[in-house]
Amino acid sequence: MSASLDPDRPEARPDLRSLPLDHLTALVASLGERPFRARQLLRWLQQKGAASLDELTDVPRALRAALAERTTLTTLERATEQRSVDGTIKWTWRTHDGKLIESVYLPETDRRTLCVSSQAGCAVGCTFCLTGTMGLARNLTPGEIVDQVHRANRRIVELGEGEGPRPLTNLVFMGMGEPLANYRSLKIALDLLLAEDGPNFSHRHVTVSTSGLVPVMRKLGEETPVKLAVSLNATTDAQRDAIMPINRRYPLAQLLDACRSFPVRNGRRITFEYVLLGGVNDSLEDAARLAGLVRGIPTKVNLIPYNANPGLPFHAPAPERVAAFQEALVARNLTAVVRKNRGRDISAACGQLAAEGGPGDPRRAQSLTGLPVAG
Ligand code: SAH
Ligand code: SF4
Repeated sequence: MSASLDPDRPEARPDLRSLPLDHLTALVASLGERPFRARQLLRWLQQKGAASLDELTDVPRALRAALAERTTLTTLERATEQRSVDGTIKWTWRTHDGKLIESVYLPETDRRTLCVSSQAGCAVGCTFCLTGTMGLARNLTPGEIVDQVHRANRRIVELGEGEGPRPLTNLVFMGMGEPLANYRSLKIALDLLLAEDGPNFSHRHVTVSTSGLVPVMRKLGEETPVKLAVSLNATTDAQRDAIMPINRRYPLAQLLDACRSFPVRNGRRITFEYVLLGGVNDSLEDAARLAGLVRGIPTKVNLIPYNANPGLPFHAPAPERVAAFQEALVARNLTAVVRKNRGRDISAACGQLAAEGGPGDPRRAQSLTGLPVAG
């Protein structure tokens, strides 16, 4: 058990935070330890969110020393914390190699949701999305994905916003990155997050959003029980080609076929996200076409009025266009909700995530300190 899980860095020591139970079991066996130690480690790392091996007080010192020598432990460092007037919190985390990634906490009366990043940047390059303008720095490891959840849980307790060990109730993979472009890490992270000896999230409370990586959507449906959200954003191939380059590879017909064959368990639905771009895709003809496209698919439409980003050539739709669009969908018997624009004052809203000061961040020039720590 010396092999790294990271194929790009085969020489690297395994990251304990990225290891599922069977790997931990092999690891403790290779160290001559009894098997129950594996589950004990898993609980410390994934249920209690231990930040370092020092916290593992009931694990023998000798084992901790052996682990310190043979492995690493991903723990994200909190770089910034910004709180919105509406209670939303955006955290910027620093990875071991200095990449900045973001998570957004969305408290509501009946749930506490964390919007999680899957990549540093994104290679898909949607023209309206700030993360898309950064390009891809790298995939996140499973440990970096799950640790966003652990750091957030601990911080929420620290701030007196919830009780431990797991105040978060829901997860959405709608932060930076295209989760299905990092499927290998995503799958391990989901397994860890749903594990009984981990944070034990219900699969009903975990949603993965994709821009439409069709072949991987099939795998996600076959290999995990989580819910699917699809960023549709346009109703013709010409329109979608223009704003989401991925559509040239997997056009609408293929995307909707993949949605039709996605396993929707017990009356659940697929969420279609639709960013309303003023004057681009917000007409009543678009609404009618949208209803036609999703016919036969158990659907919930999430309408997201565009959040303006400096330097990008799009603007928000007029409020009456949003209302008319929603009504046109409802009139066609679709469930359609308008997403509240939470955290807009701290650039934490959909499509506004681009760690400040990073390369490609249009706000970089305006950022004096690079890393403001608020709150
Ligand atoms: N890459 C995945 C997961 C990120 S989700 C995906 O695209 O599905 C981010 C969501 O925010 C997507 O639905 C995207 O269409 C939307 N979005 C991106 N930029 C936005 C903006 N400026 N205003 C509103 N929504 C935006
Ligand atoms: Fe990437 Fe999603 Fe942004 Fe498109 S909308 S660039 S897929 S993060």
